[in-house]
Amino acid sequence: MMRTAAVIGHPVSHSLSPDLFSFLAGLQAQKEFTYEAIDVPSAKLKEFIQQQRQMPERVGFNVTIPHKERLFDLLDNVSKEARTVGAVNVIEIKNSRWSGHNTDILGLQDSLLQSDADLDAQNVLILGAGGAARAAAFAVAVEGAKRVVICNRNQARAEVIVQDFKNIFSGTEFISADYSFDFAAENAKLVIQATPLGMSGIKTDDSDLRIFESLLNGVKSQQAFAFDLIYRPEETVFLKMAKRKGFKTITGLSMLIGQALATWEIWFSPITSRPEVFSSLTLFLRKKLAADL
Ligand code: NAP
Repeated sequence: MMRTAAVIGHPVSHSLSPDLFSFLAGLQAQKEFTYEAIDVPSAKLKEFIQQQRQMPERVGFNVTIPHKERLFDLLDNVSKEARTVGAVNVIEIKNSRWSGHNTDILGLQDSLLQSDADLDAQNVLILGAGGAARAAAFAVAVEGAKRVVICNRNQARAEVIVQDFKNIFSGTEFISADYSFDFAAENAKLVIQATPLGMSGIKTDDSDLRIFESLLNGVKSQQAFAFDLIYRPEETVFLKMAKRKGFKTITGLSMLIGQALATWEIWFSPITSRPEVFSSLTLFLRKKLAADL
């Protein structure tokens, strides 16, 4: 039976998901599968979901900006993780039942695992307090982080994450911070950059570089990791700076691939030969991103 999936967003033409999932379907020998990008403006979201409920071949959707936070009331069920993070990035359709998931968390965990970044009882610094930062704070807490400092130019938004998470993860202390925080005392194992600063088309100025520098000064001298969630470009200003300082680096591309593999596993079945699939997708997407430049 033909199975179909799609990414929905507005705009959605820039999405790598159609190429990524078509390539993955080939690797998984899933011949009867098609994947498309569908532009759905916010005002049409409810009507779109109602129409799609009549399509039996749909296995699910990926969800991107601006719908991730707006789907809750339109689904039959939302996972505890997606509810806590406040965002649904994957819809699973089984037996006409629509369930919302957050595979960004799983993508982040997968990236940490692939990089051997063991966070048990370690401190973590996160820059940003949007949806990606919330998923990152959740993922590092699941991985056993002892203390997580969330720094945002608007500290009040970071404090919302602290209040939302503090009773869920009893073994992790969450702290909100602004740019004046003394990161040097943190002795962290990992710094996560979860803002669009350095993304293709978004310039960084001296004050952005100063906050990167200040965060990177808040780590243990040895064996520290820097993780930028941006994947366009793969090597960002933040990661270049971290490399010069001797950090091990993790890129947003590994998170993107990790969340895609987790999505596939929700829709279909466990990925066979995971490391090989991960490497093939990395090479495929690197070429694709280079061609886009
Ligand atoms: P979002 O919800 O819009 O949040 C953006 C965050 O960045 C906010 O904390 C915002 O601060 C901060 N920010 C924006 N512009 C800034 C600037 N000029 N200076 C300082 N801070 C700034 O976005 P998001 O969904 O969390 O995404 C954040 C990044 O993660 C994006 O670059 C996205 O590409 C990446 N991402 C990657 C993946 C992946 O699979 N690799 C998945 C999801 C997201 P305020 O609160 O003060 O506005």
